[in-house]
Amino acid sequence: SARGSYSNNIRFYDSQLHRQETQENYIVSHMHQALQSGEFRLYLQPKIDLSTDTLGGAEALVRWITEEGTMLFPDQFIPLFEGNGFCARLDLYMVERACCQIREWIDLGIKPVGISVNQSKLLFFERSYIPSLRALIAKYDIPANLITLEILEGLALKNIEELNAQIKVLQEIGFCVSMDDFGSGYSSLNTLARLHIDELKLDRGFLLESSSGKSDRSRIIMEQIVQLSKRLGISTVIEGIETSEHDRLSKSLGCDFGQGYYYSRPVSAAEFNLKYMGYDAADPDTD
Ligand code: C2E
Ligand code: MG
Ligand code: MG
Ligand code: MG
Repeated sequence: SARGSYSNNIRFYDSQLHRQETQENYIVSHMHQALQSGEFRLYLQPKIDLSTDTLGGAEALVRWITEEGTMLFPDQFIPLFEGNGFCARLDLYMVERACCQIREWIDLGIKPVGISVNQSKLLFFERSYIPSLRALIAKYDIPANLITLEILEGLALKNIEELNAQIKVLQEIGFCVSMDDFGSGYSSLNTLARLHIDELKLDRGFLLESSSGKSDRSRIIMEQIVQLSKRLGISTVIEGIETSEHDRLSKSLGCDFGQGYYYSRPVSAAEFNLKYMGYDAADPDTD
């Protein structure tokens, strides 16, 4: 009956809610221990140099493999960690994993590629941020220019002068600074003109639109952003390259780098090393 299905819907809704609440509880009550015991894993997605079709770098993307072996994705816990402040610690931990991976390449005599790490706004303006980054670079004895710090355009909404000052300090140490997901929110060309970033990542929304009916408009906008960036000395990355058409389009626009499932999904550091760096370090103690 209508009434029966109504109550079924209510029950369904309740159990969804309950499941989400339980997962949030699990996440918040296990996060510290998970960090301690290495449950947050470094996954890497290749960044392809579009002028040569070779590996140009990698982006660090966190995966949480719980003690029961469940893989949790960033969308499931990063928003919670941004709410409770834990994100700053996790982001620094990911910078450390990236530094450690670069050190391993250097020790093995392999030419290292740069690694980009996502940084939450919580961390970016912490007083201890710069000293922490300096300490990591010193500990692993790696050149800072192999680490790119990715920030979101939302940071520029606040105070561009303050943000530029912080970016300048990071660049003086040698870090690269990249603006992630450009075009997904309140981005403006004004932001692009005023922010002294090294790299701009065009949100995958542009490619999604380019495959839909609005293809011409999206293509024109992307072309202009790439050209403008070039003239400002900012390198460009197109995100979300899923097809050979996306690949061709990105190349025809003159974009420097591409990232997306067409080249590779994010993979574990061990798989990345096997596929792209030419060695098998699958070690049950470390992975
Ligand atoms: P992001 O930094 O923009 O990373 C790109 C996201 O797009 C990744 O999702 C990646 O797996 C996905 N992606 C890559 N290529 C394609 C494609 O061709 N098609 C589609 N549909 N998706 C693609 P992921 O790994 O789930 O991460 C989601 C977001 O979570 C990231 O977006 C980033 O904002 C955040 N995040 C990930 N790791 C960290 C971290 O360590 N710290 C912080 N603060 N945020 C992180
Ligand atoms: Mg990113
Ligand atoms: Mg992005
Ligand atoms: Mg994103």
